[in-house]
Amino acid sequence: MKTINFRGGVHPEYSKYITADLPVKVLPPPEIAIIPMVQHVGEAAEPLVKKGDQVKVGQIIGKICNTVCASVHSPVSGTVKAVEPRPTVNGHALLSVVIENDGLDAVIDMNPHPDPIQLSAAEIQKKIESAGIVGLGGAGFPAIVKINSAKDHKIDYLIINGSECEPYLTADHRVMAEYTSEVILGAKLLAKASGAEKIIIAVEENKPECIAKLTEAAGSSAIEVVKVVTKYPAGSEKQLIKAVCNREVPSNGLPYQVGVLVHNVGTAWAVAQACQKGRPLIERVVTVSGDIIKEPGNFLVRLGTPFKTVIQAAGGFTAEPAKVLAGGPMMGLAQYNLDVPVVKTVTGILAFSQKEVKQYDPMPCIKCGRCVEVCPAHLMPVRIELFAINGMWDEARDYGAMDCIECGCCTYICPSKRGLFHWIKLAKSKIAKV
Ligand code: SF4
Ligand code: SF4
Repeated sequence: MKTINFRGGVHPEYSKYITADLPVKVLPPPEIAIIPMVQHVGEAAEPLVKKGDQVKVGQIIGKICNTVCASVHSPVSGTVKAVEPRPTVNGHALLSVVIENDGLDAVIDMNPHPDPIQLSAAEIQKKIESAGIVGLGGAGFPAIVKINSAKDHKIDYLIINGSECEPYLTADHRVMAEYTSEVILGAKLLAKASGAEKIIIAVEENKPECIAKLTEAAGSSAIEVVKVVTKYPAGSEKQLIKAVCNREVPSNGLPYQVGVLVHNVGTAWAVAQACQKGRPLIERVVTVSGDIIKEPGNFLVRLGTPFKTVIQAAGGFTAEPAKVLAGGPMMGLAQYNLDVPVVKTVTGILAFSQKEVKQYDPMPCIKCGRCVEVCPAHLMPVRIELFAINGMWDEARDYGAMDCIECGCCTYICPSKRGLFHWIKLAKSKIAKV
């Protein structure tokens, strides 16, 4: 099996060895679950419950109210204590349903199917939509919206993304290693739902255990497992499509325009759960790691579980945290409140001591060109940064700022420690508002 490469990218210290071989531990449901109505890209779901209502595990509590939206389900059984704004991982207080767990874990009738591959494409789509499935790789785009947006196009390839290139994170690794047959089933169901002709599962080469298990589980079916170079950001959608299919998604374009759809391995697992067991998306695997986590590991966590509960399950902190992240160190979001809940997009919780959290004062650019070399989107980060610093948004747009995939490789590699990514992100937000 040859290794597939892509242009640009960097090689940060991966630190995946800490949790890669640790089996997933199932965390008990939280005593209090906090369920934001937005856990995805798009509009907020509309709450269907009010204070005092009784709910069961899997019951829909937030309904789709827009074309880009995802439904939300209760991860516990119990009593709704409040429907009010609560802090969330993105730093905003968002409307959330707060449920006190009654400890009964009473479940709705989930309507399982013994052989979901027999379902029609429309039936699979309905189940994906009803289950509130979004991209579990961290992006959070509603899976059904991705499928629907491609429905008038011929889809040649469905890529199941098992690259998980962010340092420290091993949640997808464990999903592939432990829930292998569900990933394969989910891939087949996603292919049927989107009319994809061929399924390719792309896995970073640093996960040989996953490559072997997926290859064996795929058997003689038409699924191909391919090995992607261990390099950040190998899991980025456009880079993966170029590397695996040699197709280039146009600027401002979407993968279906080149006949490809990409879904994360966790999403495939969730689709299998929804179609086979009738189980909506109420839990996910989360990596808990970092130099001050006492017992790092991977945990199957009910959505709505506060970060502090998950961290306690991993033994808590061994020292005062200097930084806690939702997600990986390259693209993750710093957290200031550990009461925020795990939501569909939380791939990991990382905690670091001061020694690991380096802060630099930016120095003048030495024109080394390294930021250009590593940019997987073929941009000139140094130029766009300069335009952004000077408020030249039109020029930043002309130099492709909107094509930036926000991977942070430019900032990571810059010997002058310039905040390139920060400025480019600012330029993107300014351009988007024009
Ligand atoms: S400009 Fe954007 S895409 Fe290019 S390296 Fe920087 S963050 Fe990544
Ligand atoms: S990597 Fe940093 S120092 Fe080198 S050209 Fe880019 S901005 Fe300048």
